Amino acid sequence: MIPVRSFEGKDVAVFGLGRSGIATCKALMAGGARVCAWDDNESARKAAEDAGVPMVDLNRRDWQMFAALVLSPGIPFRFPEPHRFVRLAQMVGVPVIGDMELFARALNEFKSVDRPRIVGITGTNGKSTTTALIGHVLKVCGKDVRVGGNIGVGVLDLEKLHSEAIYVLELSSYQLDLAESLHCDVAVMLNISPDHLSRHGGMDGYVGAKRRIFRNQGPDDYAIIGVDDIRSGVMSTQLTSEGLRRVIPISAEYGLGRGVAVLEGMLQDSMAGRAEHPVDIRTAKALPGRHNHQNIAAAYAACRALGLDPPDILAAIGTFPGLPHRLENIGAIDGVRFINDSKATNAQAAEQAIRAFPNAWWIVGGRPKEEGIDDLAPLFGQIRKAYLIGESTEAFARTLTGKLEHSKCRTMDVAVLQAFEDARASGVEGAVVLFSPACASFDQYRDFEQRGLAFRQEAANLVKRRSSTEIA
Ligand code: ADP
Repeated sequence: MIPVRSFEGKDVAVFGLGRSGIATCKALMAGGARVCAWDDNESARKAAEDAGVPMVDLNRRDWQMFAALVLSPGIPFRFPEPHRFVRLAQMVGVPVIGDMELFARALNEFKSVDRPRIVGITGTNGKSTTTALIGHVLKVCGKDVRVGGNIGVGVLDLEKLHSEAIYVLELSSYQLDLAESLHCDVAVMLNISPDHLSRHGGMDGYVGAKRRIFRNQGPDDYAIIGVDDIRSGVMSTQLTSEGLRRVIPISAEYGLGRGVAVLEGMLQDSMAGRAEHPVDIRTAKALPGRHNHQNIAAAYAACRALGLDPPDILAAIGTFPGLPHRLENIGAIDGVRFINDSKATNAQAAEQAIRAFPNAWWIVGGRPKEEGIDDLAPLFGQIRKAYLIGESTEAFARTLTGKLEHSKCRTMDVAVLQAFEDARASGVEGAVVLFSPACASFDQYRDFEQRGLAFRQEAANLVKRRSSTEIA
């Protein structure tokens, strides 16, 4: 745990007591603050109390007494409209911050030469994969690395700060909104496409939040930016023209005069302005598809920025085991492979999966995003058949009618069975049942992890049903 001393002797309100909220309370208490914690949900309050956190009903407090309100990233800060506690705090001039800001303040107490180094990763898709990949490479290369933030462990639950440590942090746009003084030595912005727009007041707000990853950077710091979408490309040009930091463009689509590109599975390093020999990265079996090549380019550039040697970085990328629920290969039955991409919660993520596995029997649906799956229409010709599940069933059926054969399955068990039987009956070599839902999971599941496990379970049930075969 990382104690936060910047509020020593002061009263701090903490609202939202999930795992990171509880860690926040403990970190503040360890640093000598008086914590007033609250959550509207009774079971969350109980869990926090059991963990030794004192409860104070923030509805009954004079807000002037607080030095800050620490808000959990799940709670609306600005859009669609600020939570009432945010308004109460702002009315009396109490700053509203997040756990990442507390971490940043703890960090800023170090002299700059002793300060642990920070690698921040943001973007619409690929954050977790890239964060885990950078963490893996640094670990294999013998660094004292801690990985957290929006992935796995909350930032204040990570091991305590010291000069040699490197913190690799996945940063959501919500967290960036609430982390004014965070300074990333290496900041990675992978891509931008529409997602969570209602939480940011539209596309401009969303792009603005992503851009915040680069604030506080100076001439020795690195901004690594994916330039394959137009908005990120513009951001890269703007940052380059500002000239305040070193900007490294990365791409999985274009060759670059300066930067890192992965094209047709070959990594081309021209960070120093001249091209090195291209290197084949298709040995990284857990990172299939062009989108993962973007993640590889970003991770490679970040590790080079931290001073690692290219051969060591490339060798470590090759041994990355992958993350569950992201194009996860969970096995095959009778030659039909099952791919679990439950984390594909929007159309852009599913697009990458369809590109990586052409000719798939595609299970799709859940709680739809505003944009639906209309943008995927140019790819429908590459899909064998769609199996619709969840709340989006009727809407997606309308999108697909006349364009792609589909079946309204509604639930996972029906979809997995039908997709498998069709794929097997086709006799196609390398047939794939691809679960890449392009939707949020909350209509039928607690989260994307539970949904991915349900897909895995249904695939395992097929094996049970046919006791002579094994999932391999
Ligand atoms: P995030 O943490 O940003 O949600 P993940 O690494 O968990 O990203 O991947 C989420 C989904 O997005 C997965 O379905 C994955 O296949 C897809 N994906 C991963 N990297 C990228 C990328 N660079 N561009 C587009 N989609 C990606």
